[in-house]
Amino acid sequence: MADPEVKKSEDEWREALSPEEFQVLRKHGTEPPGSSPLDKEYGAGTYSCAGCGQSLFSSEHKFNSGSGWPSFYQPLDNATETSVDFKLIYPRTEVHCSRCGGHLGHVFKDGPRPTGLRYCMNGIAMKFDPGKE
Ligand code: FE
Repeated sequence: MADPEVKKSEDEWREALSPEEFQVLRKHGTEPPGSSPLDKEYGAGTYSCAGCGQSLFSSEHKFNSGSGWPSFYQPLDNATETSVDFKLIYPRTEVHCSRCGGHLGHVFKDGPRPTGLRYCMNGIAMKFDPGKE
């Protein structure tokens, strides 16, 4: 991962975020499926990073994966970076914010057209801005 533009110490992040946001964004946690209201959000707007405010996803690319986590078939340009996560037996591709390095979720290759990708995101790691382009 490239050196993030937004850098804070662990204590600074703990102060800036709620305990649940901190666990996901800074500790690679996963929210319980179905726990985020953003899973069921289908209005027009932009999803931004709860850590640094960078715009990450457009509602145009959101779809219902049935997983209980907000899912998109592509991110906004240059908004995210990926790295390989070996925490489970099989490697998974981790998705994080390109600006602050916050953990957002994982990307899988079983998504819909046109990309065939499924960005499986933690809703708590994002804020929804209705109508924002
Ligand atoms: Fe961020």
